[in-house]
Amino acid sequence: MTTIQIEQTTQPKQKPAVEQLGFGKHFTDHMCIVDYTEGQGWHDARIIPYQPLTLDPSAMVFHYGQTVFEGMKAYKTAAGDITLFRPERNFARLNASNARLCIPAMDEALALQALKELVKLDESWIPTAENTSLYIRPFIIATEPYLGVSPSKNYQFIIIMSPVGSYYAEGINPVKILVEKQYVRAVAGGTGEAKTGGNYASSLKAQELASQQGYAQTLWLDGRENEYIEEVGSMNIFFKINGTVITPALNGSILPGITRDSMIQVLQHKGIPVEERRISITEIIEAHQNGTLEESFGTGTAAVISPIGELKFGDHQYVINNGQIGEVSQLLYDTLTGIQYGKIDDPFGWRV
Ligand code: PMP
Repeated sequence: MTTIQIEQTTQPKQKPAVEQLGFGKHFTDHMCIVDYTEGQGWHDARIIPYQPLTLDPSAMVFHYGQTVFEGMKAYKTAAGDITLFRPERNFARLNASNARLCIPAMDEALALQALKELVKLDESWIPTAENTSLYIRPFIIATEPYLGVSPSKNYQFIIIMSPVGSYYAEGINPVKILVEKQYVRAVAGGTGEAKTGGNYASSLKAQELASQQGYAQTLWLDGRENEYIEEVGSMNIFFKINGTVITPALNGSILPGITRDSMIQVLQHKGIPVEERRISITEIIEAHQNGTLEESFGTGTAAVISPIGELKFGDHQYVINNGQIGEVSQLLYDTLTGIQYGKIDDPFGWRV
């Protein structure tokens, strides 16, 4: 175990009321920082009061986007325990992203230890109302002051945390999705399977155009043939066709979601057929036309499940399951949130 210095705040902040929580707007009293210096490795792990960073304007992250991040949650159970959900998977994915962005690997055990200490210190920030949680954002930035395109020599690993409201305060409402034909999120050989800022910056334009047309999110097709389904917004995507649940196989341009992996395992555990394979938009439209497209949903940490009630592709609108949440979607939502909030058994050993 590494010793993590803790400097407690002398000015605790006022906590927001539950109705004001929203997502990612409020931040807890403390943050964690670990520095990386070339030749020295990761050092000086510390927890300090939440505060602005001081960085040189030439810090490389501002210019060439050498940065990675993660997203996970801490939950308060009815018994008052604090749980994390598969946090080791997030830190493993962080290191996969690091490898792609030429950022030195983070010590995963240290990251988890720091996270646990930070969550414990800011425990009173974990909201307790139904389906609320503490969103956790670990990230790494390139801090070397240098205007040259090359990997930075210095970095900071930082964890900040934000109490978040229930994603579905007004019930689970299926959303309308626009199939994007012009812009792509990621390409084969690109950075799609890494969680790095540039992927999100480049997704904004399509999202803006979709919103203008009244659609909640973009459905992303592959960057080569514009035919195979990749993701929806910043979630992985699933379809239920004729009793089988199908999700695009990981191909290098899809982010390997931890919720995605969990859903696959829950489906297998419950004996519901599930396939990871290439799936085309043509196959989805055909399944809709012959009446076998039964459900569709996105998966991710923020919403767990986001049912898709309508797809717009070209000039056509395809309504799925009468715009209602499907049986399997509801089952998966109840199972995963049940495990996360300690309401049901966890046969997978996912709760930490
Ligand atoms: N795809 C993208 C592009 C994402 O940003 C996310 C959110 N991290 C996901 C999928 C879902 O991943 P997870 O289930 O690990 O939250």
